[in-house]
Amino acid sequence: MTRVFNFSAGPAVLPEEVLKQAQAELLDWHGSGMSVMEMSHRGKEFIAIAEMAEASLRELMNIPANYKVLFLQGGATAQFAMVPINLLRGKKSADYVNTGEWSKKAIKEARKFCSVNVAATSESTNFSTVPPQQEWKLGPDAAYLHYTPNETIGGVEFGFVPQSGNVPLVADMSSTILSRPVDVTKFGIIYAGAQKNIGPAGLTIVIVREDLIGGAAANTPSMFDYKVHADSASMNNTPPTYAWYIAGLVFDWLKKKGGLKAMAEINQRKAEKLYAFIDASGGFYKNPVEKQSRSWMNVPFTLKDSALDEPFLKGTKAAGLVQLKGHRSVGGMRASIYNAMPEAGIDALINYMQDFIKKQG
Ligand SMILES: *Cc1c(COP(=O)(O)O)cnc(C)c1O
Repeated sequence: MTRVFNFSAGPAVLPEEVLKQAQAELLDWHGSGMSVMEMSHRGKEFIAIAEMAEASLRELMNIPANYKVLFLQGGATAQFAMVPINLLRGKKSADYVNTGEWSKKAIKEARKFCSVNVAATSESTNFSTVPPQQEWKLGPDAAYLHYTPNETIGGVEFGFVPQSGNVPLVADMSSTILSRPVDVTKFGIIYAGAQKNIGPAGLTIVIVREDLIGGAAANTPSMFDYKVHADSASMNNTPPTYAWYIAGLVFDWLKKKGGLKAMAEINQRKAEKLYAFIDASGGFYKNPVEKQSRSWMNVPFTLKDSALDEPFLKGTKAAGLVQLKGHRSVGGMRASIYNAMPEAGIDALINYMQDFIKKQG
């Protein structure tokens, strides 16, 4: 068996220790005689798995008691609709910050429900920057402020938590959750699809302050109402049980690694190493993002001549480095280096990139 270094943006690499534990428990979870996949979500075994996962996440992120943690389906994309459906409460507008592809998708969906005030955009820099907060123009009657702390495609990450004044701050943390500590109390809602930095696809985590639950209109479909999910402990219908279980194993792995502060140090070191190499390559490789907004999780880069893309990618396969092709909208390469990407993967990538320069003479 050979494991590759997988730089996929999502579904992404999982910790090998977690996969091994899942393998060991696959046929018979803790003497139950069943796989977690075969359990009733209402049975005591799965309830224990679900509660342990939530407790671990609460501990890792230091989530206060007045926040609910929901384990849902529908991806971050469903949250693009659920946020306005639940938070507008009769208001007609919401503030959004546009820093790239995922912001744009959130804005497009929100426009089905309200008037979107784009409070700031980095379009003029081709989304290579984060607009400084003092330039934002928040609407006078916005129901909430939404932003994307890490743009997975553009590789742009906020180095600060925005001030939203009196309205709830909503963050699509799909590709940055658990990469470092965050002060949950600054947020009304944090949501994230699991398949980047949490676990398998099919699970979406929503951390929502209790006072923001219960504001959806009466004709809201149950599955789009936070209150329905909160009241049923995310078991209004069958939840994504196996993904929930694996997420719990990942949370425990993070705790063993020393928690989010320790992860932040590792992640920063990994990212800085890769950016430093790119910047020192004399223009052979380039990352377009301004230095203070560079993502620790997703590192897009181009080669000095796009004709080299194909030979570059061809060689990566043989070197055991996969899923480096950039997003179709930007081209070039992208290395996603989430929590589960070991430092050895960064070193292997840098070695390969160095060798590739030499080969070009
Ligand atoms: C991947 C991603 C999404 C979409 O997530 P789905 O779970 O596929 O709906 C949304 N926002 C960000 C920032 C992402 O990285």
